[in-house]
Amino acid sequence: MRPRIAHDCDVLVVGGGIVGLSTAYAITRAAPGTRVTVLEKEPGPARHQTGRNSGVIHSGIYYRPGSLKARYAVRGAAEMVKFCAEYGVAHAVTGKLIVATSRAELPRLHALVQRGRENGIPVRELGAAQIAEYEPEVRGLAAIHVGTTGICDYTDVARHLADASGAEIRYGARVVQVDRRPRLGVAVRTARGDVVRGRVLVNCAGLHCDEVARLTGDDPGMRIVPFRGEYYELARPELVRGLVYPVPDPAFPFLGVHLTRGIDGGVHVGPNAVPALAREGYGWGVVRPRELAGTLGWPGSWRIARRHWRYGAGELRRSVSKGAFTQAVRRLLPEVADGDLVPAAAGVRAQAVLRDGTLVDDFLIREGARAVHVLNAPSPAATASLPIGREVARRALSALAQG
Ligand SMILES: Cc1cc2nc3c(=O)[nH]c(=O)nc-3n(C[C@H](O)[C@H](O)[C@H](O)COP(=O)(O)OP(=O)(O)OC[C@H]3O[C@@H](n4cnc5c(N)ncnc54)[C@H](O)[C@@H]3O)c2cc1C
Repeated sequence: MRPRIAHDCDVLVVGGGIVGLSTAYAITRAAPGTRVTVLEKEPGPARHQTGRNSGVIHSGIYYRPGSLKARYAVRGAAEMVKFCAEYGVAHAVTGKLIVATSRAELPRLHALVQRGRENGIPVRELGAAQIAEYEPEVRGLAAIHVGTTGICDYTDVARHLADASGAEIRYGARVVQVDRRPRLGVAVRTARGDVVRGRVLVNCAGLHCDEVARLTGDDPGMRIVPFRGEYYELARPELVRGLVYPVPDPAFPFLGVHLTRGIDGGVHVGPNAVPALAREGYGWGVVRPRELAGTLGWPGSWRIARRHWRYGAGELRRSVSKGAFTQAVRRLLPEVADGDLVPAAAGVRAQAVLRDGTLVDDFLIREGARAVHVLNAPSPAATASLPIGREVARRALSALAQG
């Protein structure tokens, strides 16, 4: 006979960012009546990656055909636009330019055109003179225009997901302990001492997802290495009409410093990618020795440092020297001067790194007994959050059905 136990809910979601809230939303749509509780350590939703990003609805052009990123971004971008329209979230489909500024970047720009077409994304190739049709102040040797890229307010999307999900959302509830028992389910304890019991746990803890996986008793086989992305605000926003990106270096899962006119009308410049000294290390002054020791104790961190020290040194220089940062921006926008860049809030990316130093490129979702862990959900996971949420929900509901 199955032991009788009072569960507070069926599915317990840890993390009230866009992925956790999309999961809650997808569960209650797919299986109405399922009781979902979301535990979020902050006083509101979207206080970390979801509320500190570029606000871009990515088209899916960059990602390997067939990868989760490609499939979910292409589908997710269209769904995100629809969601925003339905719930009255500020958004716009603006299109964007990817601009090559050196000859060495031309083959990579061409490869992006191919990739875009394989992913079914409308792409227009532009010569140097045609760039001005879209962006009169931007200079480059060639560019591509991607029509389906957009912008939106992801914090507002997260709020609407929370409301529409009908889930119980508990803020100020930091999960510090997880007790999983065969057939009994999962009990978690929060820092305030509350105990919440569920049948299945879903881990969407973003920058802390590997820690939560370990609390559950599952070995995630990766570690989150936090990479801060610093932003400036352009004091002369009239220099940029829409979204302007460089050609990314395919060795890294980051897109390079870009110029994005946000939904608020301001133009954000960034983000770079520098190691953060804490998982929520939004400035060089934020250091958490325990977290830093964890990053330094992970062999993968040292392997990245050895492999990519040259790229890293450039990023560090642009982090500590505004002049060097401006210089990099000037490649795309020669008009920009030091005084045009006003420091703005930074974000930190939760990047999964394997023991051998591989930067995990694709989204990574793993299952344990009565648990689903989202272990890598970096950009474009905000864009792709609706399809990601559905996939996580499918796995959670299947774990629930197994009893
Ligand atoms: C600088 C930057 C720029 C980006 N630009 C874009 C972009 O333009 N477009 C795009 O699509 N994507 C972008 N991304 C990526 C996107 O923001 C993320 O992929 C997405 O927000 C991930 O959502 P999440 O819910 O997994 O993580 P988060 O938003 O970080 O949410 C995780 C939540 O878990 C909570 N939590 C953690 N531990 C616990 C615990 N123990 N107990 C309770 N709660 C806990 C945290 O407080 C947090 O709220 C960007 C990311 C960054 C950092």
